[in-house]
Amino acid sequence: MTKPAILLTPGPTPVPEVTRKLMAEPIFHHRTPRYREIFGDVSERLKKVFMTKNPVYTFAGSGSLAMEASLVNFHSAGDKILIGENGKFAERFTAIARAFGLNPIVLKVAIGEAVPPALIEEALKKDPDIRSVCVQLCETSTAALNDIRAIGAAVAKTRALLIVDAISGLGADRLETDHWHADLVIAGSQKALMLPPGLAFLSVSEKAKARMATAGLPRYYYDLKHYEKSLKDSDTPWTPALTLVIGLQKTLDLIEEEGLENVFKRCAANAAFTRETLQKMGLKLFSKAPSSTVTAACLPEGIDGEKLTQVMRDEKGIAMAGGQGDQMKGKVVRICHMGAITKQDVEAGLKVLGETLKEMKSSSGSSRCCSCQ
Ligand SMILES: *Cc1c(COP(=O)(O)O)cnc(C)c1O
Repeated sequence: MTKPAILLTPGPTPVPEVTRKLMAEPIFHHRTPRYREIFGDVSERLKKVFMTKNPVYTFAGSGSLAMEASLVNFHSAGDKILIGENGKFAERFTAIARAFGLNPIVLKVAIGEAVPPALIEEALKKDPDIRSVCVQLCETSTAALNDIRAIGAAVAKTRALLIVDAISGLGADRLETDHWHADLVIAGSQKALMLPPGLAFLSVSEKAKARMATAGLPRYYYDLKHYEKSLKDSDTPWTPALTLVIGLQKTLDLIEEEGLENVFKRCAANAAFTRETLQKMGLKLFSKAPSSTVTAACLPEGIDGEKLTQVMRDEKGIAMAGGQGDQMKGKVVRICHMGAITKQDVEAGLKVLGETLKEMKSSSGSSRCCSCQ
């Protein structure tokens, strides 16, 4: 039997007990004043977490749905999209762009590094036809944090839109949506927002909204014109994932009680503690641009990362993520410190990681760092 685990994975993350209890209450119908009051309230308060004055739309779906919505609602076939590709999630933007007949221009960045803002600026200067720039806030696969403020400053000087996938980072790594000129910001429920999977969010700037009317790609379920109309009445065009929206209201209470700035500070402190502890254990950090959301470390040579995470999860009740993609699979371990993950959770996880590595090292006989880079 699988033991109940401390979840240190990059989504889902732990859901606080108060939120779980609230979501276990009897269901009710959504076309009611009771639901509209809740949805109107969360739609307003989400703006504070997004640090925006603009509308934030809520979809039933996982985060990737809002990634797709951010491309499809604002572009026409053949549009050039610049993608700062520094990991698996950035590659998803490229895949979606291709699937819809857009023209992705891929700015390939070494894995583990942040996307250099100067390269974005240069690419935009070279090609004024670029319609949008896509980057992640935190590229969860490598734990690299992008400098959205600097990228936003470069994009704001052009006609292009800045699309930021903040699915993991929003509510852990600082993102000043309006101030940093992020036109479309994407988030998901199951990461720093402390909810089960199933909600996707998208904030839309005035600059992006002006583009919407001319966007020619076909769309229906996530066509923002339906959501815009409904949101005026604190409603959604289709049946909302109302149980999760009820949970979201509690998440927003929790964030407001702690204070968003304090949430950032707590995640940053736990991230710093994680980095220090990993280095004391002799592990090398994978990301050159540390994030408060997730940390990745290179494993010693001879350690099978897949086995390591499996042993920790099944025998020791600690769920961490391994690596994704050719360069990282089996070679890194990723530990989260976002959302409701506490210092105690991180400490317990790191202790078990150290013990398990020792056990595996003594049987493998190797302890050289590192199998990646
Ligand atoms: C988790 C994650 C996604 C994927 O979100 P889903 O909810 O699985 O669709 C996309 N981008 C980033 C940065 C993520 O961390």
